Amino acid sequence: MTDQKHYFSKKKQIQIKGIPAAPGIAIGKAHVFGTENIVPQERRLSEGEIAGEIERFRKALKQTKEDLIGIEKRISREIGAEHGKIFNAHLLVLEDSVLVQEVITRLKKKKKNIELIFSDVLNKYISVLSKARDEYLRDRISDITDVGKRILRNLIGLEERNLEALDEKSVVVAYDLSPSETAMMYKSRVLGFATDIGGRTSHTAIMAKSLEIPAVVGLESITDMVQNGDQVILDGIHGTVIVNPNKRFLEKYRKEQKKYEYLEHELIELRSLPGETLDGKKVVIAGNIELPEDVASVISHGAEGIGLYRTEYFYMNRKDLPNEEEQFNAYKSVVMRIFPNYVVVRTLDLGGDKFLSQLDVPKEMNPFMGWRAIRFCLARPDIFKSQLRAILRASAFGNLKLMYPMVSGVREVRQANEVLEEVKHKLRREGIPFNEDIPIGAMIEVPSAAITSDILAKECDFFSIGTNDLIQYALAVDRVNEKIAYLYEPTHPAVLSLIKMVIDNGHRAKIPVGLCGEMAGDVSLTMILLGLGLDEFSTSPIAVPEVKKIVRSIDYSEAKKIAEEVLTFNTGREVQEYARARLRDLIPDLAIELIPDL
Ligand code: PEP
Ligand code: MG
Repeated sequence: MTDQKHYFSKKKQIQIKGIPAAPGIAIGKAHVFGTENIVPQERRLSEGEIAGEIERFRKALKQTKEDLIGIEKRISREIGAEHGKIFNAHLLVLEDSVLVQEVITRLKKKKKNIELIFSDVLNKYISVLSKARDEYLRDRISDITDVGKRILRNLIGLEERNLEALDEKSVVVAYDLSPSETAMMYKSRVLGFATDIGGRTSHTAIMAKSLEIPAVVGLESITDMVQNGDQVILDGIHGTVIVNPNKRFLEKYRKEQKKYEYLEHELIELRSLPGETLDGKKVVIAGNIELPEDVASVISHGAEGIGLYRTEYFYMNRKDLPNEEEQFNAYKSVVMRIFPNYVVVRTLDLGGDKFLSQLDVPKEMNPFMGWRAIRFCLARPDIFKSQLRAILRASAFGNLKLMYPMVSGVREVRQANEVLEEVKHKLRREGIPFNEDIPIGAMIEVPSAAITSDILAKECDFFSIGTNDLIQYALAVDRVNEKIAYLYEPTHPAVLSLIKMVIDNGHRAKIPVGLCGEMAGDVSLTMILLGLGLDEFSTSPIAVPEVKKIVRSIDYSEAKKIAEEVLTFNTGREVQEYARARLRDLIPDLAIELIPDL
């Protein structure tokens, strides 16, 4: 979970940082949805009452099962079958014979009422899970709590709390919202929601995205800081909540909200239009994804493909390694959903700030420069081959390109290709189909790869520049260190020269060059990257319409002149100022909405 920071102003404005769960900005009154703490009363049982209590428990389980099946059907019908499936996981909790047996054994031993015994066992499960180091397991707490409360309500005869009953448009603030409560927000008056707990992969977060309700989760103690009726700004794009905002913040966020709505509006018009300049130069504006669920957002934002699928998230937050079949199914679903457009599947990029709980990778002094990405995969062919098999098999179902991360020289590409050939050979022998001509690309994110990109280009079908890492390595600025963040400059002349070198070398070898770092979504730099000749921008889906808008508003010949001009500047600051000024000249309305202050 993220570090939590609170800043108090004189007017008791509180700013809290959490995890962005669903994009959008909500401004409104808080409705604090109190913690639903069901505390059963204690009652001693006589020997003769035990059988009756067990029967009550079985009835409550049966009732809960019927309730869940009903909710599953309703949600599948109203929101989509993939969300309905969440409740299958809940049904499995009900069928957990260990849990049921533990309750019954305890009941016989303690001779206390079933509500109390069940609640104790449930709390024990939750407490064990909450100590888990694994985020995936912690995220499952809300599923178990949801079902547990449902059983308790059925035992005690309590009504479910209901979000449909809100009588004023509000920002809901809660300790947690169960997936079923989140689903109830449908058609209700919820402007957005903020919760104390929850992670990016929680079902609540996933559902919020589908419902398009701005949400921030993992705020840790927001329920203690907000009271009913307090004014709240919720920024689901950056994961910030501001309670009792002052005038300056309110104005700033009203502007942000207008910008978001403007873009949403633009989005509808731009969705089906290509990334093409006024004078007809075509570029691909693609989206980055981390989970198969993100494909929906890529499509709804009008991206023309997926320029980066960060597969390592599939390996994170779980106890075991994903097997080939699981990976194949995930990759295949992405390939098929994005068809006829392509998806660039990047092989496992673990290390740096991304660790896998199930692998015992030793801590390193310099993790960003350590045993990571392609280096790790080449050292662990068992893991690498299983991923390559899954990727190759998925390639038979659409347009899939394969990409190696953190390549530092051509030897690594050759070594990785040797492993790939072995895997292909085995698949052929087994008669399993795959695309024999699968395009193979390298991420250019290490300066040595950029400088030798002429050599690499001869052995690759495409490049994608990973500026998040390239900038940190080129400028020796740790990308996650706040103290030196001011030095992390995408417009530094060294960075622009490296980007130009990679694009030129790629084009000389007639291969396309994309860029998939955060820089691709920085609208003040779109004109420069376009002018340098970039073929593909791949960014978080939310930035796709902004980038598309700029590309569609300029002549390529004009962008080229801008790029030539900025390459003569001495500092990153000059480049930024010039680029912003040119963007303001080009599309004044949009620039005011889009460019944050320097
Ligand atoms: C990059 O380095 O620019 C990149 C896209 O990869 P990641 O952010 O996953 O390191
Ligand atoms: Mg990277």
